[in-house]
Amino acid sequence: MPELYGEIDPPQRLLMGPGPVNAHPRVLRAMSADLLGQFDPEFTAYMNETMALYRRVFMTENRWTMLIDGTARAGIEAALVSLVEPGATVLIVRAGRFGLLLSEIVERAGGRIETVDAEWGAVVPMERIADAIARVRPQVVACVHGDTSTTMAQPLIGLGEICRAAGALSYVDATATLGGMAVETDAWGADIVTGGLQKCMGGPSGSAPITISDRAADFIFARRHTEKGIRRDDLSDGGRPRIASNYFDLAMIMDYWSEKRLNHHTEATTMLYGARECARIALAEGLEARFARHAAAGRAVTAGLRAMGLTVFGDDAYRMSNVTGVYIPDGVDGERVRTRMREDFEIEIGTAFGPLQGRIWRIGAMGYNAMKHKVLITLGALEAVLRAEGFPVKSGAGVDAALESYAS
Ligand SMILES: *Cc1c(COP(=O)(O)O)cnc(C)c1O
Repeated sequence: MPELYGEIDPPQRLLMGPGPVNAHPRVLRAMSADLLGQFDPEFTAYMNETMALYRRVFMTENRWTMLIDGTARAGIEAALVSLVEPGATVLIVRAGRFGLLLSEIVERAGGRIETVDAEWGAVVPMERIADAIARVRPQVVACVHGDTSTTMAQPLIGLGEICRAAGALSYVDATATLGGMAVETDAWGADIVTGGLQKCMGGPSGSAPITISDRAADFIFARRHTEKGIRRDDLSDGGRPRIASNYFDLAMIMDYWSEKRLNHHTEATTMLYGARECARIALAEGLEARFARHAAAGRAVTAGLRAMGLTVFGDDAYRMSNVTGVYIPDGVDGERVRTRMREDFEIEIGTAFGPLQGRIWRIGAMGYNAMKHKVLITLGALEAVLRAEGFPVKSGAGVDAALESYAS
């Protein structure tokens, strides 16, 4: 008989990296509830409730606020393949790995890429974005709010106004900040914003909340077939090229979430239960209280790392509150430290990518893990591991500084 392997019984790790993080236990409980058919009235009621809850999470009045089934990248891809027509000029604001991901997806969608770049660890000032928009006249502007690869948060106030004035649609990837920092869809004037659950929403990865302005929805609906079953290859009438993807065709997904309930995919019932519970927990806490909790954790992590004699990465003025980059000190093996954190303390901290690989660790305090005791435990463990690896840290320095930060 072939081996059946063991029952799933993972160790109880504390996930203090850039995501995923430990899910809130209530989310995991919601996800063990019984399944329903996707057109069952009980289930479509849950879908409507989920739309209403995520309008508040995204700080928007947008009717079209729902879930894309898939990880956060599914939300990004749905937004971009639906907004970007072949040959359209797309301006991408790039200051990290996820800016590069936007380029990669836009390129596959056939967009013509223009970029406005900043070094990893910096952000792009809004004036530079405005200048670039004036210069390249894009149809779409795409950017990342919090880029976990660099731990920087891109300021986005004014983006929508500039884009509207230039006739461009705007897209924001807010995966890493949704539920942890203010994702102000309407105040930014952003046309599409997408998120994920596994960062500050405190859930597992596998569902991508999305919100779409009426303006963007009109544009996307104009790209679908005019007549059922008839392909619109002939665009001589001035029609728009249709969306290449079926799964990520937002027009079809909006029809599915609308009162029409036109069949598309089978809604991922269990993920919807989880996403709904994430939003309920976030809104019961209160968004402002939640942002303050993440900010307090971020400040304590930063203070603790500095008190340990380490150098925090990036520009203080634009730091994400929920994930902190810190330089690996000279003479210390970054991967050995991560291994010891895991093996001795059951704590995961993050490595880094691209130009920052081997240079920084990334320590997250997000969602259910943005809590005082988890921050203190992580700093205490890191101190002990660094000392064991021969890096001189005064015993208790990081924990004391973090406690002080929490007290002030
Ligand atoms: C984590 C993260 C993602 C991840 O997407 P997944 O498909 O869920 O892995 C995307 N964008 C940003 C900015 C992120 O921080």
